[in-house]
Amino acid sequence: MNTAGIVVGSFNARVGLPAAIAILRAGGSALDAAVAAVREVEDDLSDRGVGTGGLPNILGQVELDASLMDGQTLASGAVGALKGYPHPIDVARKVMELTPHVMLVGDGADLFARLHGFEPAPLLTSDVEEYWRQTITASRVEDMTLYDRRGERYAGVVRDWTTLLHQEIFGTTNVIARDGQGNIACAVSTSGWGFKWPGRLGDSPIIGAGNYADNRYGAAACTGRGELAIRVALAYNVVRSLREGRPLDHALRAGLGEVNALPDNLEKRAGSMNIVAMGRDGQVAAASNVPDSHYVYQTTDMDTLEVRPRLYVPDAL
Ligand code: ASP
Repeated sequence: MNTAGIVVGSFNARVGLPAAIAILRAGGSALDAAVAAVREVEDDLSDRGVGTGGLPNILGQVELDASLMDGQTLASGAVGALKGYPHPIDVARKVMELTPHVMLVGDGADLFARLHGFEPAPLLTSDVEEYWRQTITASRVEDMTLYDRRGERYAGVVRDWTTLLHQEIFGTTNVIARDGQGNIACAVSTSGWGFKWPGRLGDSPIIGAGNYADNRYGAAACTGRGELAIRVALAYNVVRSLREGRPLDHALRAGLGEVNALPDNLEKRAGSMNIVAMGRDGQVAAASNVPDSHYVYQTTDMDTLEVRPRLYVPDAL
């Protein structure tokens, strides 16, 4: 068994890896490390796919999704469409630790965060608000109430809105950590698909879709258009392959191959999907159906993180 601490994550998780590595070096848990890394990305204002500074929904509201899973116990927590709290990963952890539930969404998640002492903060930064405004103006969906009082504009609005969604406007961070005891944990956080419908959840808060960890087999986490990951239960799909004894790269190819085979009502360019994965002994790999995609990796024995290319999987299974 590899006793060094190990962290692997999406490329944008690089800002969080030092925090995770510091925790693992101090003997901390995989769960603490994964959460700490993700929290750093949630605070990264330049990242438009996660936390503060993330892209809003079509109405200009930032709705955050996050989840975490402890591979030792399979305990999990998630929040979806959480508004006004900059660290959804911490709220998800509280859901896991303090409630018999796994996932809270919308107003219930907001209420839970407030009652548990989380500090609300504005999430929509002025530059992102400006980008949102310009985008919906250019797309002629400006100034709309999606729920027009008389319902007359509904069809036109939805048509314009789905056209807008054909752009690649995603972003998420995910981190899988393994500690010196061999425990694996996975944490994921996102502002979701930019300009999404209010209340839309992608794969990130859904255990099995965007996030899965089980010490006995390994872990996987996804980024990309969440609807595709949900449809093939992608994170669990990969872990199930590991459970069946397949090597990591086969598991990744099989999972992405299923994604690539999905009939899709959006254009191909909005079908990107990426996975990072870790085997139970700490071996790592990552794959994408987009060329030239990267991920980050570091062990407690390494001075700095490594940026590595993902396996490119363009084909359908
Ligand atoms: N998976 C996220 C979602 O669908 C977005 C992303 O990873 O870019 O909400």
